[in-house]
Amino acid sequence: MGAWLCCHRGWIVAGPEIIKIIMGAVPCGVCWDADAVCEVRTVWGWWASLCEDHAGEFGDPDYEWRELVIGPGAGPWQITEAEAARYVESQSFVFARTMPRAPHEYVLLRRSTDPSMHLRTVAWIRANGERRRWRSGHYHTYWSWGDYEYWAMAPRDTILNRRDTRITNRDGSRRLDEQTD
Ligand SMILES: [Zn+2]
Repeated sequence: MGAWLCCHRGWIVAGPEIIKIIMGAVPCGVCWDADAVCEVRTVWGWWASLCEDHAGEFGDPDYEWRELVIGPGAGPWQITEAEAARYVESQSFVFARTMPRAPHEYVLLRRSTDPSMHLRTVAWIRANGERRRWRSGHYHTYWSWGDYEYWAMAPRDTILNRRDTRITNRDGSRRLDEQTD
């Protein structure tokens, strides 16, 4: 990615490439499986956010593509571990009542006191954490800080989770459950 330039309508990348900064990953409008990586004018005349394959298949070659860049993890929005730590320590986490066998807490983007820093922290965990497969079969990205392990889920998910490592195991189960088995 080139140098960042700022103009009054947002950020653009230096050079001929046009980019569009978006809040989080969005699914490709054709397949819904892959994340969209660009916005193109389609051969049907309307605009769509598509994955690379489908942009190649349905993008009108007479129009320039816009690369989609997820803002919170990119360029000038990148944060440090210390900033991520300061953010998580400043938030009120809510206990996940629906999953008593995997006790954890979470913060929703819309409940955050600083939604911009929330997105950047989730992006930081995704970029720097340890990627592990959970019981559900899904991969999450984990980051240990203090008495907690924090994790980010799929790129389209903005929730920030944590478990208390003093009372839970790596797979999320409660320590006491294991002792009584
Ligand atoms: Zn696609």
